[in-house]
Amino acid sequence: MDEMPIGVMTWVLGDPFTAVKLAQDVGVETMQLGCPREEYSTGEKLREFKNFVEQSGIRITMIFCGYEGENYADVKSIRETVGFRNPKLRTVRIERTFQISDFAKRLGVKAIAAHIGFVPEDSSEHLFNEMIEVVRKIADYCARNGQYFVLETGQESARTLARFIETVGKDNVRVNFDPANMLYYGSGDPIEALELLIQYIIGVHCKDVKMPSEKQREIEEVSFGEGNVGAERFIRRLNELGYKGPLTIEREVTDPQVQIRDIIKGKKLIEELKKNLATSH
Ligand code: MG
Repeated sequence: MDEMPIGVMTWVLGDPFTAVKLAQDVGVETMQLGCPREEYSTGEKLREFKNFVEQSGIRITMIFCGYEGENYADVKSIRETVGFRNPKLRTVRIERTFQISDFAKRLGVKAIAAHIGFVPEDSSEHLFNEMIEVVRKIADYCARNGQYFVLETGQESARTLARFIETVGKDNVRVNFDPANMLYYGSGDPIEALELLIQYIIGVHCKDVKMPSEKQREIEEVSFGEGNVGAERFIRRLNELGYKGPLTIEREVTDPQVQIRDIIKGKKLIEELKKNLATSH
């Protein structure tokens, strides 16, 4: 199999058929599928979707969990609504994650991923231990389904995430590394973080952000290669560290035209960078 195959990441709770078509339209081989709504988990809709995927020529490498009620509008909302931090939302979201794991198994997908919410930097905090328990439960469920449970990076430092995974202590917990998230949440330099987490990384997001300048005050998500991640050194470092998994382009912009344009742009850039790696050996 091709090393570092290119892929796309799609929205959670969207139409899965449209998601697979997006991967076909931009001409990639793999994708991370944002989990569709519950109705696709079983029955006729599942069968139809499974056939569609099989005929598409696209390999789904991971299914991303997302939950009703998550709000990514600002850091405060993310802290309160994303993942498993809020005890009131925890039980129902764990159940939903089990359901997504079953859905992935029916599709033959070996990994499910989630933003579990900011892991506290202080491991003596009560919440740190509560989140450990959540991840153990989900990891055990995934193990029974022959899957990895994958944590997306960025909402905490790489050091905290590595310590968290060690404390969880399950063999099937892995990382999906998103360099743009590291910058967005001020969680440290993504290239340095790669080294700390490489033993766990089975997926990466090729996503980019432009950091604030004098002209502009907000952090802005941009096409991969046009922000502050440093696409070239990111791919080069992954290669040096022996990473062979997919390079999944993530472009979170609501205008589908812009999204397609930027994914194609990102894909061309990654192809170029991969070519340079091959010739520099
Ligand atoms: Mg991401």
